[in-house]
Amino acid sequence: MHRATKIVATIGPASSTPEILLQMMQAGLDVVRLNFSHGTADDHRQRAEFVREAARLAGREVAIMADLQGPKIRVGKFENGRTTLVAGNLFILDAQCELGNDERVGLDYKDLPRDLKAGDVLLLNDGLIVLGVQRVIGHEIHTVVRIGGELSNNKGINRQGGGLSAPALTAKDMEDIRTAMSLGVDYIAVSFPKNATDMEMARQLANIAGAPYGIKPKMIAKIERAEAIPALQGILDASDGIMVARGDLAVEVGNAAVPALQKRMIRMARESNKFVITATQMMESMIHAPVPTRAEVSDVANAVLDGTDAVMLSAESAAGKYPVQTIETMAAICVEAEKSEQSELDKDFLDRTFTRIDQSIAMGALFTAYHLGAKAIVALTESGSTALWLSRHWTHVPIFALTPRVGSERAMALYRNVTSLHLDTNTDRDTALQQALETVVGKGYASHGDMVVLTVGEPMGQAGGTNTLKIVRVGEPY
Ligand code: PGA
Ligand code: MN
Repeated sequence: MHRATKIVATIGPASSTPEILLQMMQAGLDVVRLNFSHGTADDHRQRAEFVREAARLAGREVAIMADLQGPKIRVGKFENGRTTLVAGNLFILDAQCELGNDERVGLDYKDLPRDLKAGDVLLLNDGLIVLGVQRVIGHEIHTVVRIGGELSNNKGINRQGGGLSAPALTAKDMEDIRTAMSLGVDYIAVSFPKNATDMEMARQLANIAGAPYGIKPKMIAKIERAEAIPALQGILDASDGIMVARGDLAVEVGNAAVPALQKRMIRMARESNKFVITATQMMESMIHAPVPTRAEVSDVANAVLDGTDAVMLSAESAAGKYPVQTIETMAAICVEAEKSEQSELDKDFLDRTFTRIDQSIAMGALFTAYHLGAKAIVALTESGSTALWLSRHWTHVPIFALTPRVGSERAMALYRNVTSLHLDTNTDRDTALQQALETVVGKGYASHGDMVVLTVGEPMGQAGGTNTLKIVRVGEPY
């Protein structure tokens, strides 16, 4: 069953064996997220190895995203891993506490007490727990529990309304970027960027750390603080893609503002030729249950209809009981939602101007394939940019991107409606086109008599060189 929307899944204790990872890939996992808020460098190294091993067994490339913790302010660890907070009780956030208990817990950001004053409202664990600040005494923040619940190790803390002063990239993030590059990850997700400068700085660090490994990772800005909304266009321009990080965003801007922001961010990302991931609590109830709620089904389907490239799982796949079923269910929802999605290609194209040759060829291929009723678009690409352009507008024609570069093959794993495949292209153009067609036909994506639209660059082997469009019918003299 063809699915255009991609699935990103965070891995963790519930999904860290090659066997489970293989099942997740067979169920539809496209991109693995390593969450650097949890676990050690060795944990991530081990997991990355398992992912590559499982991908080999699955017979396809699966991309890896390293998600940096960023200046997220978190509680420390508890003696027993957790505590239960009761409404009305006092609870202390103590920058100097080592191991938490029922009365207090430590903080990873030691300067938090300086940012707060009596009357501030703190939201913990994505807003599930609410604390009112009573007073700040030195390194201790004394609070009254307004909404209680279970609080476990390393859960996040936000201030209602945003505006905490922590810097964008922490010392830990810089170290984690180096670890991530040594693991050969394909994307770096930056948490809590406030503006384009934060993203530029992160990209610079990632490129430097990636240089010894020959990697320039794709940079993803997680939009999750109030300040990022007015700076969105600049952040998009400085990034390869964004994540609608609804967990922290909802806490900072209020739950009710998030659905409209999600639609706006997805639209702006696509119009800026960037990719976009919709994240957090999409299948939350499947952490414990083998089926999702009706509301979750609608949420995933609506993100698809909004035009997201990918939908993301967090605790569902990292720590839940049903990581494989969650992906299967999510995949089925995406396929069904895509069927009802209208193409607005003609409208999209009405007043566009193109400045680049490769982009014009991509748009021409899309328009032609759509109006000819082609079975597939087959793009030979070096950097993957042709595939990105092709995938910024929705038609029901699947896009197959063939590349000799494994880095491009993995990067394209996130692009909506793009199936990336490997093809060595050290031949002349016509042989390469024929091999590309054979690859797509050989995998059963097109068959005798089907119309296929091909794009390629000449001379071959240059990034950004796409300049040729060719239309063929499978099986007819080439
Ligand atoms: P997180 O980011 O899971 O790292 O907090 C996603 C979000 O905030 O929604
Ligand atoms: Mn977050």
